Amino acid sequence: MSNYQAYFRCISGCAGKHSLDEVVYHCPTCGNLLEVHHELTPLQEQNGTQWKKKFDERRQDYRFPMASGIWSKKEWILPNIEDQDIVTTFEGFTPLLPAERFARSLDLSELYIKQCGNTHTGSFKDLGMTVLVSQVKAMIRKGKKIRAVAAASTGDTSAALSAYAALAGIPSLVFLPRNKVSIAQLIQPVANGAIVLSLDTDFDGCMAMVKKITADNSIYLANSMNSLRVEGQKSIAIEMVQQLGWQVPDWVVIPGGNLGNVSALGKGFQMMLDLGLIQKKPRIAVAQAQQANPLYRAFQKGLDNFSLPAFEAVQAQKTLASAIQIGNPVSIEKAVKTLLSFQGVVEEATEQEIADISARADRAGLFVCPHTAVTLAALEKLRQQQVIQKQDQVIVISTAHGLKFSEQKVQYHEGTLEQITSSYKNQPVSLPNDEKAVREALASLL
Ligand SMILES: *Cc1c(COP(=O)(O)O)cnc(C)c1O
Ligand SMILES: [Zn+2]
Repeated sequence: MSNYQAYFRCISGCAGKHSLDEVVYHCPTCGNLLEVHHELTPLQEQNGTQWKKKFDERRQDYRFPMASGIWSKKEWILPNIEDQDIVTTFEGFTPLLPAERFARSLDLSELYIKQCGNTHTGSFKDLGMTVLVSQVKAMIRKGKKIRAVAAASTGDTSAALSAYAALAGIPSLVFLPRNKVSIAQLIQPVANGAIVLSLDTDFDGCMAMVKKITADNSIYLANSMNSLRVEGQKSIAIEMVQQLGWQVPDWVVIPGGNLGNVSALGKGFQMMLDLGLIQKKPRIAVAQAQQANPLYRAFQKGLDNFSLPAFEAVQAQKTLASAIQIGNPVSIEKAVKTLLSFQGVVEEATEQEIADISARADRAGLFVCPHTAVTLAALEKLRQQQVIQKQDQVIVISTAHGLKFSEQKVQYHEGTLEQITSSYKNQPVSLPNDEKAVREALASLL
């Protein structure tokens, strides 16, 4: 056992430390969410330079578990897990892709896309799920009675949960809103052998259901209100800074649904500040679909006097960005704290804006998921409003792989997406198998 200490504590500051081996998601005193807290003193035995050197050296290691972007930063994430309990797909260390050509169309000099969807199940959810499922595996080995792990999902959480649970041999149970996830997202848990419950409701309805089903603690809740996932997702911040040679970008733009990931981002930056790896903060912009924009509305009213009782959830409407079709985000309070601490802003994108910028980004060589498109559309608006300046160094968090959303790309290019004008469509040309016909077609197309 190391000297490192991590435990759950209340985000409202109630006293009490709860072991990570306990099945607990809420503060027993006030009912608010918990977070994983790391005692800083043992971590501060190494200075910022030493941590940077350690993390850079581990980047050279291609073996289990250091080849994982998460487990190579294990002391900061889940310090006391034993190697035998780690369930990993070598997630993380995803590309920080310079998008030069696309950046020019936004009048930006430096734009990077952090490709968090380049992972085993195709979304950033793998980054948190490796932590949660490893912890569950450890608890089961130590004798805790856990029958299964369960989550409500807009598609990607269930894919990640079922994959990691299957790797570990733990039964998984997922609640999906019927007809609101893509085919790729639906087939992943089915193929991985999860119990898949397709409910006639939306995500918020599935979330309410999974809370009831997991209330007796024999089934472990894997949604992001379980703050173990935030610990893994925190690595996104650390990794980006590492990839920039330990420089801090001016802006990070990130899509927001349940708002766990923006909280994770802030936590990662805060930990680097506390441990001396960086000296300044980036600013954070959260992007929401206009069809599901409770945080945007709260931001318009001013976050300075935000209070949870006054927060207005919305009924999320159908959006191309289905993974963020959430009206009542679980991590709203954590997200507001993060925005206040990082001089944050919130911007929204309409369906037409999402569809168009997605097609434009793809034409510049990307292949973005609709949530990344929401983020790019928000970035373009913030740039036009001069909130983000031309010289600012910007990182966009891309949350899923575009291939998970092929159906809507097909529909866009066919021009059959409801209420969307496909201004950038590109259609395959059907021709006979005849050289003359091919040459004639090329003469007009090239
Ligand atoms: C889960 C998810 C989001 C939203 O993340 P939150 O932590 O819920 O805000 C965004 N994009 C994709 C692709 C997702 O799967
Ligand atoms: Zn409390």
